[in-house]
Amino acid sequence: MISNADPSIHQLLDRTKRNTENVIKAAPLGICITDPNGYFEMVNPAYCDFYGYTEEELLGQPFTMVFPEVHRDKMRALHDAFLAGNQPHELRQELEVRRKNGEVRNIITEAARLEGADGQMRKATFIVDITQRKRLEERLQHANQRLHYLAHHDELTGLLNRRAGLQRLEQELSRSSRYRNPLSVAMFDLDNFKAINDSYGHSVGDDILQAVTAKVNEILRETDVLIRLGGEEFLVIMPEVDADNAQQAMERVRSAVAQTSFTQLALAVTLSAGVAGYVEASTTRLLDHADKAMYQAKQSGRNRVVVASSM
Ligand code: GH3
Ligand code: MG
Ligand code: MG
Repeated sequence: MISNADPSIHQLLDRTKRNTENVIKAAPLGICITDPNGYFEMVNPAYCDFYGYTEEELLGQPFTMVFPEVHRDKMRALHDAFLAGNQPHELRQELEVRRKNGEVRNIITEAARLEGADGQMRKATFIVDITQRKRLEERLQHANQRLHYLAHHDELTGLLNRRAGLQRLEQELSRSSRYRNPLSVAMFDLDNFKAINDSYGHSVGDDILQAVTAKVNEILRETDVLIRLGGEEFLVIMPEVDADNAQQAMERVRSAVAQTSFTQLALAVTLSAGVAGYVEASTTRLLDHADKAMYQAKQSGRNRVVVASSM
C-alpha cells in the first residue's frame, strides 16, 4: 500500500518507474528499447501495432528483423556504434522497414542512449510512420516529372517540342559561336500530307508521323537533335556539322524516308528540306534561311533538299 502522506524513497522511485512505464505504453509513438546485443528488451503497444507483431513475438528477437535482409548487418553495426559512442542522441533517420505481413513502410527514427540497471548501455528508439507522406511525395514527384516532360516534349512523337527545341538551338548556337565550331540546321516538312489525312484519316496520319520520326532518328547521328516544330514540320540541329555535310545527311534522310513504306497500308511519304549553315549568332536568321530553303525545295517539286547558301 502506497501512502501519499509519507512516501519512502523506494515507493517514490517505484511510482516514478510505473509512471514512466505508463507514459511509454500510452504513447502514440512506437518506442522500443534494445540491449547491447541488439535484441528487443521493451516494445510499447504502438510499436507492436505498427509492425503487426505481438509483444511476445518481438521481445528477445534481434531488432534487425524489421529491416530488409540486405540492410541488417549495416543496421546492427550502426546500433553498436551508437551504443559505443558518446553522443546521447542519434540523429534523425529515414528508413524503410517491413511489417510482419511484408508491407513496406517508411519511418523516421530518433534514438537516445540509456544506462540500464546493470550499467550497460541501451538504445531507446522512437519511430514515426511517414509512409503516407512519402507516397504523396513520390506521387508529386512523378507528377512534376510528367509535367516537366510534357512542357518540353511533343506527346505524339516524344520529340522536343517547338519551345524546348528553340531553346536548345539557342544553347547550341551560343556554344558553337564561343568555340567557333560549325553548326547547321535543317527544316523539313512532309509533302502533301493533307492528302494522306484526307484519304486515310487522321490516325493513320499520326502513325506516319511517329514512324517517320523513328526513321529519321535512325538515320541521324546521336548528336543531332530532332525537334517537332508543329504539325508535320520538323527541325534538325546538327552541332559540329557544316552546311555541306548537313546537306549530305539530309539527303540520306530524304532518300531513306522516300524508300520506306509506312504503316500496314504501305504508304509512300516524301519530305522537302531546307538546310542552313551557321552564319551568325542569331537563331531567327538561321531558321529564316532554313525556312526559305525549304520553301524553295517545295517550289521546285518537293522530295528534295535545298541548301540556303546555294539558293
Ligand atoms: P506541302 O507539301 O505543301 O507541305 O503540303 P501539305 O499537305 O503537307 O501541307 P499543308 O500545310 O497544306 O498541310 C499539312 C497537313 O498536315 C495539315 C494536317 O492535315 C496535317 N497535320 C498537321 N499536324 C498533324 C498531326 O499532328 N497529325 C496528323 N494526322 N496530321 C497532321
Ligand atoms: Mg507538308
Ligand atoms: Mg506544314
